[in-house]
Amino acid sequence: MHGENLQKSKKILLVEDSRLTAKVVEDFLHKNGYETETAVTGEEAVQKISGCFPPDLVLMDIELAGESDGIDAARRIIKSRDIPVVFLTANTSGEIIDKIKEVKAYGFVLKGMDKAALLSTVEMALKLHEANAYARMFERLFENSLNELYIFHPNSLKFVAVNRAARKNLGYTIEELSTMTPLDLKPELDLRSFRKFLDPLVSGEHEQVLFNTVHRRKDGSRYPVEINLQLFDYGGEKLCLALVADLTERKQLEEEKRCKEEQCRLMLEGIPSPAWLVSRERRILAQNKAAEMVGTKVGGYCWGSIHGTASLTDEYKISLEKTGSPLPGTRCYFCCGDEALDRNEPINSEVELAGTIWDTWWIPLGEGVYLHYANDVTRYKKMEEELRCLSVTDCLTNSYNRRYFVQKLEEEIERAKRAGSKFSLIMLDIDRFKSINDRFGHNAGDSVLKSMAELIKNRIRKIDTLARWGGEEFVILLPDTTVKNAVRLAEELRESISRMDIPGVGRVTASFGVAGYCPGDTIDTLIQRADNYMYEAKAAGRDSVRYMDECE
Ligand code: GH3
Ligand code: MG
Ligand code: MG
Repeated sequence: MHGENLQKSKKILLVEDSRLTAKVVEDFLHKNGYETETAVTGEEAVQKISGCFPPDLVLMDIELAGESDGIDAARRIIKSRDIPVVFLTANTSGEIIDKIKEVKAYGFVLKGMDKAALLSTVEMALKLHEANAYARMFERLFENSLNELYIFHPNSLKFVAVNRAARKNLGYTIEELSTMTPLDLKPELDLRSFRKFLDPLVSGEHEQVLFNTVHRRKDGSRYPVEINLQLFDYGGEKLCLALVADLTERKQLEEEKRCKEEQCRLMLEGIPSPAWLVSRERRILAQNKAAEMVGTKVGGYCWGSIHGTASLTDEYKISLEKTGSPLPGTRCYFCCGDEALDRNEPINSEVELAGTIWDTWWIPLGEGVYLHYANDVTRYKKMEEELRCLSVTDCLTNSYNRRYFVQKLEEEIERAKRAGSKFSLIMLDIDRFKSINDRFGHNAGDSVLKSMAELIKNRIRKIDTLARWGGEEFVILLPDTTVKNAVRLAEELRESISRMDIPGVGRVTASFGVAGYCPGDTIDTLIQRADNYMYEAKAAGRDSVRYMDECE
């Protein structure tokens, strides 16, 4: 520590050309715990100073033999190294005293010798030098600090010191600042408001005061600052230290963050369906109005609060009723697999619940934030289903269309080839349908087609397929059915049809051809065969069934 073991470890270079004096002084210093080294001339002293182990203090005789006297040697020593010099002199003329002052020596001792005076002068010089070194260190710390540091009088407010970082930011010189006060830098504060910060320090109520304001530079520009005021003792009086942090960068970052958040908020609000910003842990960071109406809360977990627990609020139900979207009271499940969160691409999953289909999306926005939104696609999905239905259905009779039938037949042929299963085909054609149209009109004809399809559909099994093959022709695919059984069904249908009374038309009949699958059959050969038998039935007088016996 500062000042400790002062006498024990210090080395003194004694510069003295009188051997006797040197010996006496040396002995005395040794006795008082100092190490010593001697030099006889100024040149020798300068040389010793520049060595590896320089002394802590130089005790220098002024009148020296040789080229340079003690004053000159001391000047050279002080110039090259920060070592305190104390002079030994027999002469205290004004001229000598002036010279001593001029070389910034730490004092002098009269030769002669009051030994106590020698000892105390040496001790004091060492202490003073050490204290100076500390002061210089703190001065450097103050001056070179990257923070802006200001020292001012708490009463007059005059600046005592302003460090380089502060001067650089403000654009003022030391001279300019020496006549200024903190108020000259703080356009937002006047004496009264500034005193409000200072008074609690002066009264001892607070040790520190922290506040934000702005600083005005010499060029008039301003920057936001955070100020930390503290009092400290200096030479029996109090001074105020202000640590000032330029907040420009922090404010900019805050502004950027605010901007980003605002953009996110606008983006969320722009999404018409429920949407959330969620963290990797699925915590809801922000949500839009639609999400609010679903019943989720910011700070809650997307998974937990929605999955299985969210019920629609009344407000949302009403809006849904108005827009005709999902069913009121629908419980929503918006969730996603863990996997999805690790993937760096948008993924979506479809969730169907209580008649409402939601398309849910997780889109990584970066920095562990995801945009999660749910799109009600119920109507779209229903339309899709309708379109699919239309593509395979005959609209008039609500039976399958020819395209679908051919596809089914193809599959059945494949199955028969693979599994050796049997299946049969019935082809039927309404008798004298043209005359029905002619007599009762086209609409009546249509209703005959509809009634006929209805009757057949009600009679056949689920695995059978009824299709409208063309105008008034129908085909029925009967999997796992022998020709014998198919003929039995055809007879039954023929009879039911002939007994059916169609309003406005009366009775109709149909002719049937039945064919069974034979190895090597294709769609065409099979259809052709059924068609041939159907025409046989026509030729035989209609309202009858014709069929093949067995494969040739
Ligand atoms: P056949 O007993 O020999 O089968 O005599 P047909 O009159 O039933 O046979 P034809 O092939 O001569 O006539 C079929 C008629 O079916 C002709 C056509 O106008 C009518 N037709 C075809 N499609 C429809 C339809 O969708 N609605 C109605 N109402 N008539 C249709
Ligand atoms: Mg026909
Ligand atoms: Mg016909």
